[in-house]
Amino acid sequence: GSVTKDLHRKSFAMHEELAATLGLQSYRKIPVLSVAAGTQPKPARNCSWLDGCIASCSLMDKNLTAQVTPKELTEALVAAAVAKGARVVIGRVEGLETAQGPDGTVQVRAVVVDGKPMKADKVVIAMGPWSVLATDWLGLRVPMEGIWSTSVVYQHSGTDRTKEEPYALFCQEDDNGCHLEVYPRPNGEVYLCGIGGSKYTKPEEIKALAPEAVLPNPKRAAAAHASFSRMTSLGSQEPAKTQACMRPCLQDGLPMMGRVPATANAYIACGHNCWGILWAPISGLAMAELVV
Ligand SMILES: Cc1cc2nc3c(=O)[nH]c(=O)nc-3n(C[C@H](O)[C@H](O)[C@H](O)COP(=O)(O)OP(=O)(O)OC[C@H]3O[C@@H](n4cnc5c(N)ncnc54)[C@H](O)[C@@H]3O)c2cc1C
Repeated sequence: GSVTKDLHRKSFAMHEELAATLGLQSYRKIPVLSVAAGTQPKPARNCSWLDGCIASCSLMDKNLTAQVTPKELTEALVAAAVAKGARVVIGRVEGLETAQGPDGTVQVRAVVVDGKPMKADKVVIAMGPWSVLATDWLGLRVPMEGIWSTSVVYQHSGTDRTKEEPYALFCQEDDNGCHLEVYPRPNGEVYLCGIGGSKYTKPEEIKALAPEAVLPNPKRAAAAHASFSRMTSLGSQEPAKTQACMRPCLQDGLPMMGRVPATANAYIACGHNCWGILWAPISGLAMAELVV
């Protein structure tokens, strides 16, 4: 019933279509279990790989959840765009070259990438938390916080176990300060987030931070490993990857999408908070309809 209800529903359906069109291997619908970790060895009755200390485990939803690995999705989307004639330039945008149009609006003429101006007819700022730079570039107020969180990935040997019983887990908060979300992937990896201790980052800090400096917090990765290995033998080895990302969260929790006021040809699409993977297809479609 929320204002974002349509974004959820339409984008959920679009993901299924995109996965088929792009031939994604990592997309699937997955049932979800609600789990509370215990302190004594007691396996779950309804999921054989939850073979550690489980206090309770119940079915939360059967077919309302789907997963896709963001790397595969984004790379496939870029490849599909390139196949249709798009050109990808990788670099750091340092600013915009603008001029005042005859009607008084600001017109973007070029995007400055690694010191070199690239001519632009239209510009869409879609830089997640770093979209706060639109304040310096175009005077747009972007009241954004970046929520900096660590996640881990296990490359476990029990692929068949999570293949036979593919469940995502939403876990209650535990005594390590984790409220784990566990997503076994079709390729045998197991991704964990919800590991607590996120850092709330203000706009001025975000501007000063290079995206590649968003590094994981080893203490939170260790806490996640302690919690996961207590619940299941899938966590018997250290995670293969620890990583971090920043969730772009605007003051009202809603995304900011549209033409930047008082400009002729600048647009913004940011602030997707904890829904940026789910909402990616519908946001792309909405922005394309607006811009093209
Ligand atoms: C731990 C965690 C779990 C999550 N789980 C889910 C989930 O289950 N479902 C879901 O839907 N969403 C989830 N999200 C949220 C989702 O990841 C974000 O909403 C989404 O990534 C936002 O996408 P974006 O493209 O707007 O920003 P980003 O993904 O942050 O991308 C911004 C890009 O801009 C680049 N950039 C920044 N500055 C510049 C510059 N000056 N020049 C050029 N490029 C620049 C950055 O390098 C980055 O690649 C999760 C987030 C986190 C942190």
